[in-house]
Amino acid sequence: MNKKIQFTSLKIEKLEAILRRLNQNHPLRAKAESWFDTSKAGERGERSLDFHMDFLVNEKHLLFEGTRLSSGKYYFQIDALVVHSNFILILEVKNLAGTLIFDTDHNQLIQQFEDREVIHRDPIQQVNLQHYKFKQWLEENRLLKDIPIYSYVVIANDKAKIIRKNNNGFLAKDVIRATKIRETVNNLFTRHKNEILSSKDLQKIRKLLIKQHTPSNPDLLNKLQIKKEELYTGVQCPRCLKLPIKRKHGKWVCPDCYSTSKDAYLTALRDYFLLINPSITTMELKDYLHLKSRTTSQRLLSSLNLNHEGTTKNRIYHLNSLWPKNYK
Ligand SMILES: [Zn+2]
Repeated sequence: MNKKIQFTSLKIEKLEAILRRLNQNHPLRAKAESWFDTSKAGERGERSLDFHMDFLVNEKHLLFEGTRLSSGKYYFQIDALVVHSNFILILEVKNLAGTLIFDTDHNQLIQQFEDREVIHRDPIQQVNLQHYKFKQWLEENRLLKDIPIYSYVVIANDKAKIIRKNNNGFLAKDVIRATKIRETVNNLFTRHKNEILSSKDLQKIRKLLIKQHTPSNPDLLNKLQIKKEELYTGVQCPRCLKLPIKRKHGKWVCPDCYSTSKDAYLTALRDYFLLINPSITTMELKDYLHLKSRTTSQRLLSSLNLNHEGTTKNRIYHLNSLWPKNYK
């Protein structure tokens, strides 16, 4: 059984797809790129934790990255969640550079870098809320069982300067550097030697979290005010990134670098699914992939064994069954 469940980010995937299909000189390209960079930095911060949690490998535990669960009307997301049989650890990861001032009196995180100041939501408040919500979730699923739960804000950027500013001068221990995770977890091992969650409980939590995880799926084209029609259509060359490439004798051939591919169109279909529509017809596919004939389009769609509805002529194919998993 895989101990690490890494939920993939639809937001990052969507931004990648947009950047792939947007003209280099498009006025909103810079904005999309900056959103992508921010999201990617966050993801890098989360992934960098893996290194600091390597020592857990022989322990009875599960590690979830990027879990997003519903609590009634709203969702809460946990960057890293360690479910050990003796305790649970919730980590909110911040990968920010510069000076980070935790102003707990006013619930804000002030980031100073390059002569600028950016105000972020208070991550301590965020992680406390996640703590509360996840406890509630365990209770609802009858898995709480007196399991001790701990939560921390983790600063993934080694070079960030951490400052705590509040009136009573109280130095809480809820903000740690990534390099301190190991020590923190080792302390938990010392304090909690009893197994509270059985292997069966861990299995149940794994199954439930995978089932209930709901990825954030923002309408990025709308948010960026980019029209679907402004995106390039066609299949991209996996080697030199030329777009569109052509279909010849059952293969995708790049007119620039001459490399060939059998399945380059699957990435294009994923882009279509993420940005245009979760379902497609034969004619729509023909236009989108720049195919010469309706028959080729029909054959490609049939070969994918997709769920579909309608008669042969007006059949609508649902693309979601191509990617049943949203985790690695
Ligand atoms: Zn090429």
